[in-house]
Amino acid sequence: MCLLEQINYQLILSDIYEEIANIDYEGNVANYIPQLAKVNPEKFGIHLCCLNEGNYAMGDSNEKFSIQSISKVLSLTLAFSMMGDKLWERVGVEPSGNPFNSLIQLETENGIPRNPLINSGALVISDILVSNLVNPKADYLSFIRKISGSDEIQYNTAVANSEKETGFRNTALINFMKSFGNIKNDPETVLDFYFHLCSIEMTCKELARTFLLFANHGTLTGTGECIVSRSQSKRVNAIMQTCGFYDEAGEFSFKVGLPGKSGVGGGIVAIHPDKYSIAVWSPKLNKKGNSTKGMKTLELLTTRTELSIF
Ligand code: GLN
Repeated sequence: MCLLEQINYQLILSDIYEEIANIDYEGNVANYIPQLAKVNPEKFGIHLCCLNEGNYAMGDSNEKFSIQSISKVLSLTLAFSMMGDKLWERVGVEPSGNPFNSLIQLETENGIPRNPLINSGALVISDILVSNLVNPKADYLSFIRKISGSDEIQYNTAVANSEKETGFRNTALINFMKSFGNIKNDPETVLDFYFHLCSIEMTCKELARTFLLFANHGTLTGTGECIVSRSQSKRVNAIMQTCGFYDEAGEFSFKVGLPGKSGVGGGIVAIHPDKYSIAVWSPKLNKKGNSTKGMKTLELLTTRTELSIF
């Protein structure tokens, strides 16, 4: 029981889990690389962490999966903490209304991506981190380990290498932006860094714990360390709310009403400021690349608790 609001999260989550675990929702596991294609589509895990330390879990919540684009929120956070508002000279804050790997808006917008949570935006953020970190891959991993509170977080090198072999669209995006002068480093180096960020693996428990930071206005709950200011944390949450689900961001706001982020590994993480963070993993994706059961779980959660940010 989460004492602050007298909500029985465990009961609500177990009802939701039982209700949707065995429904055969439409969707397909991401299949652009073999490491994602071979994941069991029936996996389903949930972990909710309350700010008052309550933890509630169901199903495969302790199994690692590829967090993929969820990493984009964390790379944005690190870059924002280092650059402050200068960051917005290189990337916008508008929802794209387009698929995550779209090129079309870049031409009319002079190589400035619409937001940091689509691939083009995350590539610019990766470029900024490559410029500002001493040992980009090692330093980024240390940052993730610090905010997750777990030294067990790793890159999956096989996933990163496979992404590299099939990453023609990301290669096109970065070269296109380089032609506008919005990529400062060697594109190969930035792509290698970006593919590593996407390859990070976490369990639902680790992911929910990592994002608790954004429910707590930018401060780590364990150590009290301020990672980003209250105002910066508010902005990261606003970008998750408006851009976290690509061309389904409106639908997620409409049905769930929380800032969140999805990844093609089937993970979705969402936060309720001052209350909780929740991670759901179910690998079958809808046509927009978001986890079908993940979306449904969160819709039922905010409906049954009668709590969303709206
Ligand atoms: N690694 C994937 C890509 O860059 C991440 C996409 C995603 O999770 N939406 O295409």
